[in-house]
Amino acid sequence: MANELILIVEDNPKSLKLVRDTLQVKGYQTIETETGEEGVRLAHERQPALILMDIQLPGISGVEALQRLRADPVTHHTPVIAVTASVMPQDRTRVMAAGFNGFQGKPISVRELLATGRDILDKRLGQP
Ligand code: MN
Repeated sequence: MANELILIVEDNPKSLKLVRDTLQVKGYQTIETETGEEGVRLAHERQPALILMDIQLPGISGVEALQRLRADPVTHHTPVIAVTASVMPQDRTRVMAAGFNGFQGKPISVRELLATGRDILDKRLGQP
């Protein structure tokens, strides 16, 4: 089953298109926004099964957006995958320490992103 609703928060048009097209081809429903503020609002309103969160965004960062999601009882347990061009080991450690459920480096590997997303949706990864 792959018809879950996934929220994409991404300000780069090419990355957004890649992720959106990849998910839709696999049968997922998607909603999207270019800012963390709007992402937090949309997550509360639509309650997606999974969020893909870019870290470098205009306005609040993906990390700040995650903190707001975790502070909201409605989105407290929503799994969030960080998507970032900062792929050094210390970057990954810092991102995961912030409380993300998964990590996807850029350039985005479509195969890896789908596998990580599926594992988290199936609760094989990212359990608190
Ligand atoms: Mn960005």
